[in-house]
Amino acid sequence: MVAVSSPPGLNTLDALLDLLRDRRVVVLAGAGCSTESGIPDYRGPENIQRTRTPVQYQEFVRSEAARVRYWARSTAGWARIASARPNAAHHALAQLEEGGIVRGIITQNVDGLHQAAGSRRVVELHGSLASVRCLACGRITPRDEHQERLRSLNAEWMDRLRDGGIEVAPDGDAELPASVVESFRVPACEACGGVVKPDVVFFGENVPAERVQDAWSLFEEADVLLVAGSSLTVYSGRRFIYRADKEGVPIAIVNIGPTRADDLAAAKVEGKLGSVLPGIADALVPRGRPRASA
Ligand code: NAD
Repeated sequence: MVAVSSPPGLNTLDALLDLLRDRRVVVLAGAGCSTESGIPDYRGPENIQRTRTPVQYQEFVRSEAARVRYWARSTAGWARIASARPNAAHHALAQLEEGGIVRGIITQNVDGLHQAAGSRRVVELHGSLASVRCLACGRITPRDEHQERLRSLNAEWMDRLRDGGIEVAPDGDAELPASVVESFRVPACEACGGVVKPDVVFFGENVPAERVQDAWSLFEEADVLLVAGSSLTVYSGRRFIYRADKEGVPIAIVNIGPTRADDLAAAKVEGKLGSVLPGIADALVPRGRPRASA
């Protein structure tokens, strides 16, 4: 294991650069990568007071009221998600992949912003908001298309929402009063009439085995695991930490605030990803440098 600890006062960024230089890096990304694109995280310092709990898988499947609540909020908040653009952190990760430092990204994010920035090898552990899936027949439909059905079925509802001055939260899950949610109409699958769900892994749902395998295959290429913007509270991401620790793969972290791997990290930088990652990318992959061979 490459032990690069960072005693207080030492330049932690230099320690991180030493750890990453000339090594194959696999990134474990989380919601912190996208906050600078306007998509909130769950457990950042600004969200301590949040009371809203995300919908659970079993609840969504069993309860029509839960689905009405989910789709009403999601319909109201979608424009903000759909218009989000990659920030400097996403671009830096793409630059590091282009330069042959980053082998790929295992992301817990569902917003597609890594790919939008140009990252090529991305395992979307928790799926993607860009499509919806029928739980009965498995039909996949682009979210934009589904959004049109949601909007046309709820045209008056959308008008009332606009007139009502209701504040839309920026993460695609707007806060709406129960009285507003109740009158929302949820479209069924066009092919079979089944229940339609966003193609993301909800809390209480397993990550598909094939996708976990893709993530392990990428992980196995790592000399270093770089955690970017994740509290590592969710087990499906934290499992990579356990294996890295077991196999002596050094763990590097860039995050604001604590993570569940701080005591295992060989180097940690507390700072904004949109500032720290471009600095790392420019130091390790000066722009214009040709792509390194694998
Ligand atoms: P998390 O909310 O648990 O942790 C995010 C961490 O990033 C926090 O510690 C926070 O302080 C830090 N952070 C926030 N902004 C930062 C910045 N600019 N620079 C550096 N650090 C920053 O997120 P998680 O660990 O990814 O787990 C959240 C779960 O919710 C995941 O399963 C994910 O699928 C889902 N989620 C996804 C999105 C998205 O797709 N953008 C957004 C919210 C939640």
